[in-house]
Amino acid sequence: MPQLWVTFIDVGWGDSILLELDDGTPNHRFGLIDSNDTTNWPNSYGYLKRHLERYAARPAIGTLPYPLFDFVVATHAHADHISGLKRILRLYGADWFYFPRFNHAKSAAFARLVNWASSHIQNGVPVTANRRYLAHPDTFSFGPAQFSVLWPPPPSAGAPNDPNDRNNENNNSLVLAIKLQDVVIVTTGDCEADNWKRQPGGGAWKVPLPSQHLKFVQVPHHGAQNGLFDSANGTPMLDQIHQLHAAQASVTPMLAASCHPQPHGHPDANVANLLDSHNCGGKFPSSIPGTNWLRTDQNLHYTLWTDGTTVRTITRPSV
Ligand SMILES: [Zn+2]
Ligand SMILES: [Zn+2]
Repeated sequence: MPQLWVTFIDVGWGDSILLELDDGTPNHRFGLIDSNDTTNWPNSYGYLKRHLERYAARPAIGTLPYPLFDFVVATHAHADHISGLKRILRLYGADWFYFPRFNHAKSAAFARLVNWASSHIQNGVPVTANRRYLAHPDTFSFGPAQFSVLWPPPPSAGAPNDPNDRNNENNNSLVLAIKLQDVVIVTTGDCEADNWKRQPGGGAWKVPLPSQHLKFVQVPHHGAQNGLFDSANGTPMLDQIHQLHAAQASVTPMLAASCHPQPHGHPDANVANLLDSHNCGGKFPSSIPGTNWLRTDQNLHYTLWTDGTTVRTITRPSV
């Protein structure tokens, strides 16, 4: 039976999410979404190095292969998500490097990273053998798990490389649904709340969350005000979750955020208050008594474990 661990690394500022899949073979599969490491403490690198050294020390595994990662995703072109990726790719390599369409002129550091990943040879092989833009409705597989891209929307005809938003890279963030059998986990990058509203005229939700088996949703943009509250002070992501739950009682996602008070005051007090009072006990039962949502500034690293049927959360320290 496959098992999937999704670990939100406590990086201080930004995101770094490690995915590990045990599909029954000796060599586990690894994936990575983002790596910040902009501070004096490269927490993403430090966590991954220690963690992967423990894997390599197991007699059944021996040395780790190169490239190690099945895939590395850069959700969007902001430093708190990408600054650690060059070091991680150089050390461990990836079969696939995925990223969204972005503004090459305004996001020069990210353009340099993509160019470097396209050409750099390490250990005799490319640091990323394959790379491509992702957009809704692209998919890719991770062993028996399936990834679906929920955002950004596809490019317009004739401009395949143009970003969804030229001015705010947050609005280009990849929102990903990871499905293992009957469990769906959604990661959101910094995709701001205005992107989550309905299509004009009250149509479909712009970021279409999976309608069944939804067990976990990352609160976008580290719990910033504009991650949960749209410009009309609505909360479209929560509205969509409520609607899905009303139609399908098994849709009971836990919510969580990668957040730290420094340097930008994440989570925002209004977001934290709303999530604290959010009626998880009734509608969205938490597996951690007394906690409605997980947050890296209080729970440190936290991990979701699933076998495709049940979901457990592991936090250090336990709550
Ligand atoms: Zn961010
Ligand atoms: Zn951002």
